[in-house]
Amino acid sequence: MKKKKTIRKWVQLVLFLLIAAISVNHTLVESGKGVTFFSTASLHAVCPFGGVVTIYHLLGLGTFVKKIHPSSVVLMIVVFSSAILLGPLFCGWICPFGTFQEWIGKIGKKLFKKKYNRFIPYKYDRYLRFLRYVVLAWVLYMTAVTGKLIFQDYDPYFTLFQFWTGEIAISGFITLGLVILLSLFVERPFCKYACPYGAVLGIFNLFRIIPLRRNETICINCKACDRVCPMNLPVSTSRIVRDHQCISCYECTDTDGVCPVENTLAFQSSRYKEAVK
Ligand code: SF4
Ligand code: SF4
Repeated sequence: MKKKKTIRKWVQLVLFLLIAAISVNHTLVESGKGVTFFSTASLHAVCPFGGVVTIYHLLGLGTFVKKIHPSSVVLMIVVFSSAILLGPLFCGWICPFGTFQEWIGKIGKKLFKKKYNRFIPYKYDRYLRFLRYVVLAWVLYMTAVTGKLIFQDYDPYFTLFQFWTGEIAISGFITLGLVILLSLFVERPFCKYACPYGAVLGIFNLFRIIPLRRNETICINCKACDRVCPMNLPVSTSRIVRDHQCISCYECTDTDGVCPVENTLAFQSSRYKEAVK
């Protein structure tokens, strides 16, 4: 349904503006000018990945990593619960940095048309995607050892929403610049190759309760779903998409302009599938 696509765009826009407002307001509050309603919220307080990096300290020492708030743990639990059901909805619908990359990607699509997001052959690219697990392991290890938010100095998401504060390391600006540049050629490059939180959420795709299913009996193998997938997944040859890179964006299930055969692609649990047999 095209409606789904439109709803996603609006959800992404509203959440991007909300996070931007929280960030700006937090800076204003520190200089005595912000709105009280938001006064306690910082970017760290609304980041569910903070809940992941503090787990070791929370369970082992009963403390939080410096700058991490209990709200991050609550958000982490909410995001994990939705991921058990529907996979990384957070990546496809909520993360403002994913949205930002999609917006830059629109320029790339205009520049390169059909070539956009097709520069690296999938047979090599699929292995490069595991790099984000290397980043995840490094972030978790270093945060556990140092008790500091080690990734902050390299985090393009943090840089984007805090670039005016003077808190950003040069490495943060370099990473953000690289992501912007790569987004002109590749859709969501940070999500694909480097995001440690995307790496965690991607694992839920392996056992999510409601996966993406393709009805092989009515599929006409037109490959439109492959072409539209921002993560370049081979949807048209999968019976069930369990790839760790699916971001549950629903783009491939859009029957208005993508899959020409209604109900060929759908998010369905195995129980539902049994019922409609
Ligand atoms: S398989 Fe479909 S839902 Fe998953 S990332 Fe690709 S387009 Fe989005
Ligand atoms: S777009 Fe629909 S019909 Fe075409 S290959 Fe994908 S699932 Fe099959």
